[in-house]
Amino acid sequence: MSNSLQSLPIMQNWDCHSCSDCCRIEAVITDEEKQRIEALDLANDSEVAPKPWFAPVARGSQKWKLTHRPDGGCVFLTTGNRCRIQERYGADAKPFVCRLFPFVLIPAGNHWRVGMRFSCPSVAANSGRPVADAEKDLVHLSHLLERHAGRSADSAPPPLLQAGQQLSWPDVCRVVQVLVEIVQDRGDRLERRLRKCLAVARIGGQTQFDSLQGNRLSKYLQAVRNAVETEVPREVVDMPPPDPLLGRVLFRTHLAIFARRDRDEYGASSIRRRLGRVLEGWRFVRGNGPVPRVNEFLPKTSFEELERCSGMLPEMDETLERYYVVKLNSLQFCGPPNFDLPLWAGLESLVLTLPMILWLRRAFTDQSPVDAVQQAILLVDDHFGGNPMLGFPHIQYLLRTLAQRGELEKLVAWYSR
Ligand code: SF4
Repeated sequence: MSNSLQSLPIMQNWDCHSCSDCCRIEAVITDEEKQRIEALDLANDSEVAPKPWFAPVARGSQKWKLTHRPDGGCVFLTTGNRCRIQERYGADAKPFVCRLFPFVLIPAGNHWRVGMRFSCPSVAANSGRPVADAEKDLVHLSHLLERHAGRSADSAPPPLLQAGQQLSWPDVCRVVQVLVEIVQDRGDRLERRLRKCLAVARIGGQTQFDSLQGNRLSKYLQAVRNAVETEVPREVVDMPPPDPLLGRVLFRTHLAIFARRDRDEYGASSIRRRLGRVLEGWRFVRGNGPVPRVNEFLPKTSFEELERCSGMLPEMDETLERYYVVKLNSLQFCGPPNFDLPLWAGLESLVLTLPMILWLRRAFTDQSPVDAVQQAILLVDDHFGGNPMLGFPHIQYLLRTLAQRGELEKLVAWYSR
């Protein structure tokens, strides 16, 4: 079994600060883990919620999710915001998914790539020790994952570039490396770097890769990089605004999903609540008047207010660069970590997060620009690659439409003004 790690996010720091946020999201465990936890002496523990502790992921499924208390916390979360299983039996006794968070290990041929969930406040705030310090733990977790999933890093096929187009793992890594280099090129503002990535995707989508492998592929990618350098408009003011109907309505349709944060969803399944969500979604699509308070950080504001220019300050670029480099380098943006999207479509879905982050950060006027961006990244990444709605064919169709009609790069430029 292969077990090497590559592309550790060297610019990223992290330590767990026990905020318990990750104990309020869905954790899926195996049947074996369920049996192991049931065998622990936890039933009469006053810090553990009454049973049932597990619910099947789907009828007849061999996978289970940990249940939650009415306030949204995991059944094993103590009043002191600690995991009771870990407190009494050590980290090894916890479900694997809880041990791994906020890391994501992605198979990439002869190695694992390390991604991170920015829905963890410490990751979003870059708070703690360098992630490189966790390498030993991550190697150990990659061994556990190989046992847990029964697969090695080389058992997963490389993601498609698009339907009918597939490269080998080393060549996929060459493509990704070029995208990472573009995002790290500080000669441009971050928004233009992402517009250049979209241009690479567009050219790549029109290319036959059959005879492009190894060094030939590297030379081709270098030529594409040179071409997008001259082709992509340099300044945001050189870009036309998004189409009021197609661009902005489809953008706000996605925003209605990404801006939401429900930490008490386990106690809130009433019909009234569901109807309220539909209404809030409709108000996002309509895009005028007050913005529905779909997360606890949103102050009172209106769509009109958030449409006003607010400028993308240079100090925000560094935080955004960290986010996009981690997502690209780890391959978290395509294949199984992102609803099996092919590489180019996954890249487009990742770029769409930028106008959403910038729209949300405009609302957080009580925070410094960098803090506001971190807050917006936290909200958006809570959904990216995880919210099942984003896997729905019609939502993916809307995203493709935005990209194919050239609206995506306009949105990137528009919300960077
Ligand atoms: S969300 Fe992050 S900081 Fe908070 S408990 Fe989980 S891992 Fe720790």
